[in-house]
Amino acid sequence: KKVADRYLKREVLGEGTYGVVYKAIDTQTGQTVAIKKIRLGKQKEGVNFTALREIKLLKELKDPNIIELIDAFPHKGNLHLVFEFMETDLEAVIRDRNIVLSPGDIKSYLQMTLKGLAICHKKWVLHRDMKPNNLLIGSNGQLKLADFGLARVFGSPDRRFTHQVFARWYRAPELLFGTKQYGPGVDVWAAACIFAELLLRRPFLQGSSDIDQLGKIFAAFGTPSASQWPDMIFLPDYVEYQHVPAPPLRSLFPMASDDALDLLSKMFTYDPKARISVQQALEHRYFSSAPLLTDPVKLPRPA
Ligand code: ADP
Repeated sequence: KKVADRYLKREVLGEGTYGVVYKAIDTQTGQTVAIKKIRLGKQKEGVNFTALREIKLLKELKDPNIIELIDAFPHKGNLHLVFEFMETDLEAVIRDRNIVLSPGDIKSYLQMTLKGLAICHKKWVLHRDMKPNNLLIGSNGQLKLADFGLARVFGSPDRRFTHQVFARWYRAPELLFGTKQYGPGVDVWAAACIFAELLLRRPFLQGSSDIDQLGKIFAAFGTPSASQWPDMIFLPDYVEYQHVPAPPLRSLFPMASDDALDLLSKMFTYDPKARISVQQALEHRYFSSAPLLTDPVKLPRPA
């Protein structure tokens, strides 16, 4: 039986898109958990549907690099989702000035991110909201993808999604050009932004509007040519931009290894059809060449 008395409520952890998240103790197991309280009622169908979708997706996605949904139950007009409790997130790690991230640490965090994504993509699910604060980190250093509130099964009959789902800085160029038929490449682009952020210790492409976001992308990689991205001109919001040449990628990431830069450039490919897949990224030389990946338990985390 799913009863709310099972959980001992502790402090509030934060406010999410659909409601409060609080810490609790599972009295049945003694385990610390995070409970996401989703308000039902007001927006009825909308929230309800999103929540149910999240539950269904999470149950299908059981993996060491994906947050575990322990329990789900309605209580006092709210839907409660019980997740394993996570100590911190990647955003807190990146922002912490007391933390030094070695090349092996960065490699390890990126590999865990891509492994979680690979499971999503294998099951034909897009994450669609990849950003450092959605990458939670457990006490054993394991990184897990969270927040599938916006995720949605693709390959379903209606593939015309809305494109305003991403945190702008992590949004792929095809989304900024208004594509309605996007695929797993949008998660690869976002993962590339996270990779860049691990290297730079600040968000890489900080656009202040959608137009400015494209400007930041073009300033970093040059304006895409028709041969680089043949389908670009057919996108709904495509407009011709004044030509900007690409600076050498090396000049933007002076500390990165050649292997890191090679993988980064393949993840930041303009044409989503030519962009490296998550599986191919995991097989890239970067992950097998020196330095070795840091064991997750040894990864630096905020004090
Ligand atoms: P949003 O919907 O805005 O992305 P969430 O609802 O996922 O945010 O989470 C809100 C806050 O609750 C987060 O910023 C995080 O601090 C905290 N949180 C969410 N899930 C967990 C968890 N599993 N363990 C610990 N804290 C969590």
